[in-house]
Amino acid sequence: MPASTVESAASLPPAAAAVRPSGKPPFESWGRYPKYSSRLVQLHWQSDFPAILAGSHEHVLPVGMGRSYGDVCLLKDGILLQTTGMNRLLDFDPQTGVITAESGVTLAQILEFAVPRGFFLPVSPGTKYVTLGGAIANDIHGKNHEAAGSFGNHVPCFELVRSDGKRLLCSPRDNPEWFHATIGGMGLTGLISWAQLRLKPIVSRGIDYEGIQFHGIDEFLDLKQRYKDVEYTVSWLDCVSTGRNFARGIFMLGEHSRVPAELTRSSEPRLRFPANAPGFALNRTSVSAFNTVYFHKQRKPHVRLLQDYEPFFYPLDSVLHWNRMYGRNGLVQFQYVIPWDGAKEGTIAILREIANSGLASFLAVLKTFGDIPSLGMMSFPLPGIMFALDFPIKAGLTFPLLERLGDMTLDYGGRLYPAKDAAMTPHQFQSFYPDWERFARFRDPMITSSFWERVTDTTGARPTV
Ligand SMILES: Cc1cc2nc3c(=O)[nH]c(=O)nc-3n(C[C@H](O)[C@H](O)[C@H](O)COP(=O)(O)OP(=O)(O)OC[C@H]3O[C@@H](n4cnc5c(N)ncnc54)[C@H](O)[C@@H]3O)c2cc1C
Repeated sequence: MPASTVESAASLPPAAAAVRPSGKPPFESWGRYPKYSSRLVQLHWQSDFPAILAGSHEHVLPVGMGRSYGDVCLLKDGILLQTTGMNRLLDFDPQTGVITAESGVTLAQILEFAVPRGFFLPVSPGTKYVTLGGAIANDIHGKNHEAAGSFGNHVPCFELVRSDGKRLLCSPRDNPEWFHATIGGMGLTGLISWAQLRLKPIVSRGIDYEGIQFHGIDEFLDLKQRYKDVEYTVSWLDCVSTGRNFARGIFMLGEHSRVPAELTRSSEPRLRFPANAPGFALNRTSVSAFNTVYFHKQRKPHVRLLQDYEPFFYPLDSVLHWNRMYGRNGLVQFQYVIPWDGAKEGTIAILREIANSGLASFLAVLKTFGDIPSLGMMSFPLPGIMFALDFPIKAGLTFPLLERLGDMTLDYGGRLYPAKDAAMTPHQFQSFYPDWERFARFRDPMITSSFWERVTDTTGARPTV
């Protein structure tokens, strides 16, 4: 693969900005599939965006940390504009908890600033290494959807810069239609240059944690009902075991500790996954063995402990580049939400299909979404059951399975999450998101993504493995 080009837009005239090679590896999404050798330009200032576009006819796509799994943050033919150099905190109001920051600031940086001051993110994904802009553009969700809705519900306003240089202040009152199109708008409406986020107060870094083993979806739903008032809940699910152990898992719940305690402590990732694992490292036997150990890692069926927020929210962040363990081919994630009407039957049917396929990984997460409506026109959450699972990419097996699972999701009235997708068909996307044509009117003419090209393409072409 040819090396991609990485350079600073601030230091280059517009025409040269996209072409100087740097020897850095190509920009990849977290799943490392598909792979494109796109040109990458670092933005350092908000004014870089219109400057780069001046006189150019190439498509562009703003990107953050590339923590999306599939091609929503990729562009095969064009220029990726990476925002991580636009990473300044601009303002913080300790009375309201509202922080203002450039869009390339990561949630890790916000936590580093906010936790010692007694504030926490209102919604957090399973990694803190995502940018503020990326979190808005995918309208991400956390373990507290029932209590808090999705990320966009906590964004009072942001600035959107269009390729023609227009700057729009967007909020529920100012340019509301652009506000709703950009939250969950997958970067397609323009560059979010800065944004505000409403943080929540905490008095301790600690999380009052409980872990409870369950067997089957009925037990999971009973637990969910019993603990419906607990702020954070998430479950790990064993997708490989069949028979008596079918759909066993661990229901994990947590609340911010209300006992005032030390708020400062620095914790950085300790381990780094060294290189690409050989393709055979993840197979049914190894995953099955891992799952049995994981299920029994808590010796008792029910444990309680006081835990730091880092391992509770970000257990995988302690191993940098853990995605490499899937080998060079990479991984794909399958993530659906199915509304309550068909949620239980759909989940059982899909889990059986996965268990029978012989393809699975140990990273399977089951959650429920509540009924706080998301503000984005294209936001993913709906009230119901959400399930996410990583699959290794195996030629001839993975994509046919994903297509079947996507169709089953559709039959049960659900939808897939673009931020995690590399496989949904145009028919599936357009059925999951019937508002897509209305949304398309807000797309910036200079911006597109490989995801958008794929799901609005009627030829059905898919990148090769
Ligand atoms: C381990 C792990 C766990 C995760 N857990 C969750 C989870 O629990 N819940 C969840 O919802 N997601 C989760 N994710 C997915 C992740 O939170 C999202 O994909 C997030 O959007 C990634 O942010 P990013 O900065 O890496 O953006 P990228 O992946 O680089 O880009 C994401 C999208 O944002 C757009 N974008 C980025 N910056 C801007 C900007 N400044 N202006 C306009 N558009 C922009 C891009 O065009 C792209 O469409 C997880 C990912 C990983 C790797």
